Amino acid sequence: MSEWANSGERSAGRAGAASPADAGVDAQDQAALVIEARAVGRRYTEGSLDVTVLDGVDLQVMRGQSLALVGASGSGKSTLLHLLGGLDQPSAGVVRLMGRDWASMSVTEQGAWRNQHLGFVYQFHHLLPEFTALDNVAMPLRIRRLSVPDARRQALQALQAVGLGERALHRPAELSGGERQRVAVARALVTRPACLLADEPTGNLDRRTADTVFELLLQRSREEGTALLVVTHDEQLARRCDRRLELVGGRVAGTAAPRG
Ligand code: ADP
Ligand code: MG
Repeated sequence: MSEWANSGERSAGRAGAASPADAGVDAQDQAALVIEARAVGRRYTEGSLDVTVLDGVDLQVMRGQSLALVGASGSGKSTLLHLLGGLDQPSAGVVRLMGRDWASMSVTEQGAWRNQHLGFVYQFHHLLPEFTALDNVAMPLRIRRLSVPDARRQALQALQAVGLGERALHRPAELSGGERQRVAVARALVTRPACLLADEPTGNLDRRTADTVFELLLQRSREEGTALLVVTHDEQLARRCDRRLELVGGRVAGTAAPRG
Protein backbone atom coordinates (compact mmCIF):
# COMPACT_ATOMS: atom_id res chain seq x y z
CA MET A 1 0.00 0.00 0.00
CA SER A 2 1.38 3.42 -0.81
CA GLU A 3 1.18 6.56 1.28
CA TRP A 4 -1.93 7.70 -0.54
CA ALA A 5 -3.78 4.56 0.24
CA ASN A 6 -3.10 5.43 3.84
CA SER A 7 -3.86 9.13 3.78
CA GLY A 8 -6.41 9.55 1.04
CA GLU A 9 -8.61 6.59 1.76
CA ARG A 10 -7.71 5.84 5.33
CA SER A 11 -11.20 6.73 6.42
CA ALA A 12 -12.45 3.41 5.08
CA GLY A 13 -13.89 1.54 7.99
CA ARG A 14 -14.41 4.73 9.95
CA ALA A 15 -17.73 5.50 8.45
CA GLY A 16 -18.96 7.09 11.66
CA ALA A 17 -16.35 9.85 11.67
CA ALA A 18 -18.07 13.21 11.98
CA SER A 19 -15.35 15.44 10.57
CA PRO A 20 -12.02 15.18 8.74
CA ALA A 21 -10.17 15.79 12.03
CA ASP A 22 -11.77 12.68 13.46
CA ALA A 23 -10.32 10.58 10.70
CA GLY A 24 -6.78 11.56 11.61
CA VAL A 25 -6.13 13.98 8.76
CA ASP A 26 -3.45 16.37 9.99
CA ALA A 27 -3.79 20.14 9.80
CA GLN A 28 -1.74 20.44 6.63
CA ASP A 29 -3.85 17.82 4.89
CA GLN A 30 -6.99 19.61 5.94
CA ALA A 31 -5.84 22.91 4.46
CA ALA A 32 -5.18 21.15 1.18
CA LEU A 33 -8.35 19.08 1.20
CA VAL A 34 -10.59 20.12 -1.68
CA ILE A 35 -13.28 17.48 -2.03
CA GLU A 36 -14.26 14.47 0.00
CA ALA A 37 -16.83 11.71 0.19
CA ARG A 38 -17.42 9.99 3.52
CA ALA A 39 -19.28 6.70 3.77
CA VAL A 40 -21.31 7.74 0.75
CA GLY A 41 -24.14 5.51 -0.35
CA ARG A 42 -26.63 5.87 -3.19
CA ARG A 43 -29.65 3.66 -3.49
CA TYR A 44 -32.36 3.80 -6.10
CA THR A 45 -35.80 2.50 -5.32
CA GLU A 46 -37.86 1.40 -8.28
CA GLY A 47 -41.18 0.01 -7.21
CA SER A 48 -40.41 -2.79 -4.79
CA LEU A 49 -36.85 -3.09 -6.11
CA ASP A 50 -33.93 -1.55 -4.23
CA VAL A 51 -30.74 -1.01 -6.24
CA THR A 52 -27.62 -0.10 -4.28
CA VAL A 53 -25.19 1.65 -6.60
CA LEU A 54 -22.76 3.03 -4.03
CA ASP A 55 -22.23 1.47 -0.63
CA GLY A 56 -19.82 3.29 1.68
CA VAL A 57 -17.46 5.18 -0.59
CA ASP A 58 -14.68 7.24 0.98
CA LEU A 59 -12.37 9.43 -1.02
CA GLN A 60 -10.45 12.64 -0.67
CA VAL A 61 -8.69 14.76 -3.25
CA MET A 62 -6.15 17.38 -2.25
CA ARG A 63 -5.19 20.59 -3.97
CA GLY A 64 -3.13 19.98 -7.13
CA GLN A 65 -3.73 16.24 -7.03
CA SER A 66 -5.12 14.10 -9.83
CA LEU A 67 -7.25 11.04 -9.19
CA ALA A 68 -8.40 8.59 -11.85
CA LEU A 69 -11.68 6.84 -11.13
CA VAL A 70 -12.05 3.57 -12.99
CA GLY A 71 -14.54 0.72 -12.88
CA ALA A 72 -16.74 -1.38 -15.11
CA SER A 73 -19.62 0.22 -16.93
CA GLY A 74 -22.48 0.64 -14.46
CA SER A 75 -20.19 0.54 -11.41
CA GLY A 76 -21.39 3.97 -10.28
CA LYS A 77 -18.64 6.30 -11.52
CA SER A 78 -20.99 8.92 -12.96
CA THR A 79 -23.28 8.59 -9.95
CA LEU A 80 -20.32 9.33 -7.66
CA LEU A 81 -19.25 12.33 -9.75
CA HIS A 82 -22.78 13.74 -9.61
CA LEU A 83 -22.80 13.36 -5.83
CA LEU A 84 -19.39 15.03 -5.53
CA GLY A 85 -20.64 17.92 -7.65
CA GLY A 86 -23.75 18.32 -5.53
CA LEU A 87 -25.96 17.46 -8.50
CA ASP A 88 -27.49 14.49 -6.70
CA GLN A 89 -28.05 13.69 -3.01
CA PRO A 90 -26.51 10.65 -1.32
CA SER A 91 -28.78 8.17 0.45
CA ALA A 92 -26.11 7.94 3.15
CA GLY A 93 -22.91 9.72 4.08
CA VAL A 94 -21.53 13.18 3.46
CA VAL A 95 -19.96 14.99 0.52
CA ARG A 96 -17.98 18.15 1.16
CA LEU A 97 -16.46 20.60 -1.28
CA MET A 98 -14.04 23.16 0.18
CA GLY A 99 -15.18 22.18 3.66
CA ARG A 100 -18.90 22.62 3.04
CA ASP A 101 -21.42 19.81 3.06
CA TRP A 102 -23.66 20.05 -0.01
CA ALA A 103 -26.61 18.99 2.14
CA SER A 104 -26.18 22.07 4.34
CA MET A 105 -26.81 24.47 1.45
CA SER A 106 -29.93 25.73 -0.28
CA VAL A 107 -30.23 25.12 -4.02
CA THR A 108 -29.22 28.74 -4.68
CA GLU A 109 -26.18 28.44 -2.41
CA GLN A 110 -25.23 25.18 -4.13
CA GLY A 111 -25.33 26.89 -7.52
CA ALA A 112 -23.09 29.70 -6.33
CA TRP A 113 -20.70 27.23 -4.61
CA ARG A 114 -20.50 25.17 -7.81
CA ASN A 115 -19.79 28.23 -9.94
CA GLN A 116 -17.13 29.37 -7.48
CA HIS A 117 -15.26 26.11 -6.89
CA LEU A 118 -16.09 23.52 -9.54
CA GLY A 119 -15.45 22.89 -13.20
CA PHE A 120 -17.01 20.04 -15.19
CA VAL A 121 -15.92 18.27 -18.36
CA TYR A 122 -18.14 15.56 -19.84
CA GLN A 123 -17.70 12.94 -22.55
CA PHE A 124 -19.64 15.15 -24.93
CA HIS A 125 -18.49 18.74 -25.02
CA HIS A 126 -21.91 20.36 -24.36
CA LEU A 127 -20.78 23.55 -26.05
CA LEU A 128 -23.56 25.83 -27.24
CA PRO A 129 -23.57 25.48 -31.04
CA GLU A 130 -24.65 29.04 -31.82
CA PHE A 131 -21.84 30.62 -29.77
CA THR A 132 -18.18 31.00 -30.66
CA ALA A 133 -15.52 29.11 -28.70
CA LEU A 134 -14.73 32.43 -26.99
CA ASP A 135 -18.29 33.05 -25.83
CA ASN A 136 -18.73 29.43 -24.75
CA VAL A 137 -15.66 29.77 -22.52
CA ALA A 138 -16.81 33.20 -21.30
CA MET A 139 -20.18 31.78 -20.19
CA PRO A 140 -19.26 30.78 -16.59
CA LEU A 141 -17.80 34.28 -16.11
CA ARG A 142 -20.95 35.90 -17.48
CA ILE A 143 -22.89 33.82 -14.93
CA ARG A 144 -20.61 35.49 -12.37
CA ARG A 145 -21.82 38.80 -13.83
CA LEU A 146 -18.50 39.84 -15.29
CA SER A 147 -18.88 42.37 -18.10
CA VAL A 148 -18.70 41.03 -21.66
CA PRO A 149 -15.26 42.59 -22.35
CA ASP A 150 -13.79 41.27 -19.07
CA ALA A 151 -15.28 37.81 -19.57
CA ARG A 152 -14.00 37.67 -23.16
CA ARG A 153 -10.52 38.79 -22.15
CA GLN A 154 -10.22 36.02 -19.56
CA ALA A 155 -11.84 33.50 -21.91
CA LEU A 156 -9.24 34.30 -24.57
CA GLN A 157 -6.45 33.65 -22.06
CA ALA A 158 -8.05 30.32 -21.15
CA LEU A 159 -8.30 29.39 -24.84
CA GLN A 160 -4.68 30.37 -25.40
CA ALA A 161 -3.68 28.14 -22.48
CA VAL A 162 -5.20 25.15 -24.30
CA GLY A 163 -3.57 26.19 -27.58
CA LEU A 164 -6.73 27.48 -29.24
CA GLY A 165 -6.23 31.24 -29.21
CA GLU A 166 -6.42 31.25 -33.00
CA ARG A 167 -9.75 29.44 -32.97
CA ALA A 168 -11.51 31.77 -30.56
CA LEU A 169 -14.06 33.00 -33.07
CA HIS A 170 -14.95 29.58 -34.49
CA ARG A 171 -18.17 27.84 -33.60
CA PRO A 172 -18.16 24.25 -32.29
CA ALA A 173 -19.22 22.84 -35.68
CA GLU A 174 -16.07 24.36 -37.20
CA LEU A 175 -13.78 22.58 -34.74
CA SER A 176 -12.52 18.99 -34.55
CA GLY A 177 -13.61 16.66 -31.74
CA GLY A 178 -10.30 17.15 -29.93
CA GLU A 179 -10.52 20.92 -30.29
CA ARG A 180 -14.06 20.93 -28.93
CA GLN A 181 -12.90 19.04 -25.85
CA ARG A 182 -10.03 21.51 -25.42
CA VAL A 183 -12.60 24.32 -25.50
CA ALA A 184 -14.59 22.39 -22.87
CA VAL A 185 -11.42 22.17 -20.73
CA ALA A 186 -10.87 25.93 -21.11
CA ARG A 187 -14.49 26.58 -20.12
CA ALA A 188 -14.13 24.35 -17.04
CA LEU A 189 -10.94 26.10 -15.90
CA VAL A 190 -11.70 29.72 -16.83
CA THR A 191 -13.10 30.41 -13.34
CA ARG A 192 -9.95 28.89 -11.75
CA PRO A 193 -11.97 26.34 -9.75
CA ALA A 194 -10.46 24.43 -6.82
CA CYS A 195 -11.76 21.20 -8.30
CA LEU A 196 -12.33 19.79 -11.77
CA LEU A 197 -14.68 16.83 -12.24
CA ALA A 198 -14.32 15.08 -15.59
CA ASP A 199 -16.53 12.17 -16.70
CA GLU A 200 -14.82 10.21 -19.48
CA PRO A 201 -13.59 13.44 -21.07
CA THR A 202 -11.70 11.56 -23.78
CA GLY A 203 -14.20 8.73 -24.21
CA ASN A 204 -15.39 10.03 -27.55
CA LEU A 205 -11.95 10.66 -29.08
CA ASP A 206 -9.53 8.51 -31.04
CA ARG A 207 -6.48 7.17 -29.19
CA ARG A 208 -4.02 9.87 -30.21
CA THR A 209 -6.41 12.78 -29.65
CA ALA A 210 -7.50 11.26 -26.33
CA ASP A 211 -3.85 11.19 -25.28
CA THR A 212 -3.32 14.85 -26.12
CA VAL A 213 -6.51 16.05 -24.42
CA PHE A 214 -5.85 13.96 -21.30
CA GLU A 215 -2.30 15.30 -21.07
CA LEU A 216 -3.65 18.84 -21.42
CA LEU A 217 -6.15 18.21 -18.64
CA LEU A 218 -3.36 17.01 -16.33
CA GLN A 219 -1.02 19.82 -17.32
CA ARG A 220 -3.60 22.59 -16.92
CA SER A 221 -4.84 21.30 -13.58
CA ARG A 222 -1.26 20.98 -12.28
CA GLU A 223 -0.49 24.52 -13.41
CA GLU A 224 -3.62 25.83 -11.72
CA GLY A 225 -3.26 23.68 -8.59
CA THR A 226 -6.70 22.24 -9.32
CA ALA A 227 -7.79 18.99 -7.71
CA LEU A 228 -8.68 16.77 -10.68
CA LEU A 229 -11.04 13.82 -10.45
CA VAL A 230 -11.32 12.10 -13.79
CA VAL A 231 -13.38 9.07 -14.78
CA THR A 232 -11.79 7.00 -17.51
CA HIS A 233 -12.02 3.53 -19.02
CA ASP A 234 -8.47 3.80 -20.24
CA GLU A 235 -5.95 2.21 -17.88
CA GLN A 236 -3.04 3.77 -19.74
CA LEU A 237 -4.48 7.23 -19.10
CA ALA A 238 -5.45 6.37 -15.52
CA ARG A 239 -1.83 5.53 -14.76
CA ARG A 240 -0.79 9.08 -15.58
CA CYS A 241 -2.75 10.41 -12.63
CA ASP A 242 -1.29 10.67 -9.15
CA ARG A 243 -3.76 8.09 -7.89
CA ARG A 244 -6.14 5.52 -9.26
CA LEU A 245 -9.30 4.29 -7.56
CA GLU A 246 -11.49 1.48 -8.78
CA LEU A 247 -15.16 1.11 -7.98
CA VAL A 248 -16.25 -2.50 -7.51
CA GLY A 249 -19.58 -3.55 -6.06
CA GLY A 250 -20.34 -0.02 -4.95
CA ARG A 251 -17.10 0.33 -3.00
CA VAL A 252 -13.58 1.60 -3.55
CA ALA A 253 -11.29 -1.29 -4.44
CA GLY A 254 -8.41 0.60 -6.05
CA THR A 255 -4.88 0.93 -4.83
CA ALA A 256 -2.80 4.01 -5.29
CA ALA A 257 -0.54 4.46 -8.27
CA PRO A 258 2.92 6.00 -7.84
CA ARG A 259 3.37 9.51 -9.12
CA GLY A 260 4.96 9.75 -12.54
P1 ADP B 1 -21.00 4.27 -14.66
O1 ADP B 1 -20.84 5.75 -14.84
O2 ADP B 1 -19.93 3.66 -13.80
O3 ADP B 1 -21.11 3.53 -15.95
P2 ADP B 1 -23.55 4.98 -13.47
O4 ADP B 1 -23.16 5.76 -12.28
O5 ADP B 1 -24.02 5.75 -14.64
O6 ADP B 1 -22.35 3.99 -13.87
O7 ADP B 1 -24.69 3.95 -13.07
C1 ADP B 1 -24.51 3.02 -12.02
C2 ADP B 1 -25.75 2.21 -11.83
O8 ADP B 1 -26.78 3.05 -11.33
C3 ADP B 1 -26.29 1.58 -13.09
O9 ADP B 1 -26.67 0.27 -12.80
C4 ADP B 1 -27.49 2.42 -13.43
O10 ADP B 1 -28.46 1.66 -14.07
C5 ADP B 1 -27.95 2.88 -12.08
N1 ADP B 1 -28.65 4.18 -12.15
C6 ADP B 1 -28.10 5.36 -12.49
N2 ADP B 1 -29.02 6.34 -12.44
C7 ADP B 1 -30.17 5.78 -12.07
C8 ADP B 1 -31.50 6.26 -11.82
N3 ADP B 1 -31.81 7.53 -11.95
N4 ADP B 1 -32.44 5.35 -11.43
C9 ADP B 1 -32.13 4.05 -11.28
N5 ADP B 1 -30.91 3.54 -11.48
C10 ADP B 1 -29.94 4.37 -11.86
MG1 MG C 1 -20.70 6.93 -16.55
